[in-house]
Amino acid sequence: MSIHIVDHPLVHDALATLRDKRTTPEYFRRAATQISVLLAAEALRDLPTSDVTVDTPIGPAEGRRVSTDVVVVPILRAGLGMLDAVLEMVPSARVGHIGLQRNETTAVASQYYSKLPPGVDRSVVLMVDPMLATGGSAVAALDVLRLAGATRVRIICIVAAPEGVRLVEERHPDVAIYTPVVDRSLNAQKYIVPGLGDFGDRLYGTL
Ligand code: URA
Repeated sequence: MSIHIVDHPLVHDALATLRDKRTTPEYFRRAATQISVLLAAEALRDLPTSDVTVDTPIGPAEGRRVSTDVVVVPILRAGLGMLDAVLEMVPSARVGHIGLQRNETTAVASQYYSKLPPGVDRSVVLMVDPMLATGGSAVAALDVLRLAGATRVRIICIVAAPEGVRLVEERHPDVAIYTPVVDRSLNAQKYIVPGLGDFGDRLYGTL
């Protein structure tokens, strides 16, 4: 079972703001940041740590520090709306970009850009894609990551559709998906129903 439902009141509050068609790009971006922080925290809950001792002003204290490299990979362009929030959580993370364009008629994703940091085979990779709709883009991006040697990959998304979850589970069963919700279905244009509309357009005001 690769899907993890992130069920937190603050996640649902931000999701309701994102879904609301009256939300302006300014508030949409804020809610996208809020929800992304919480989703990233959940998706990175199992990051390995190593024990350390630090000196407080009073004396030594045992602690733990993250002991792995993290690479965040936003899927262009909508994934950029979640990137800064994730980097707030993991400031040392390196960032790769994958650009995929969906043909509006066929809904088939094609790659137009890919730049990954070296050594993703040794990193925990957090792929950031707000809308897991058909799963076509997610699988295309996961194929790129797999080809680059990534083995420890997880995805955060804000809304998922059953079709997208199924396709990722089928093609990349080792990849965990973190989302607050799996919506009803896709419409004829392959938008998630009820979803929140076009994430990139609402984020950037390009409607
Ligand atoms: N991409 C979006 O932005 N919204 C959807 O509903 C599906 C894909």
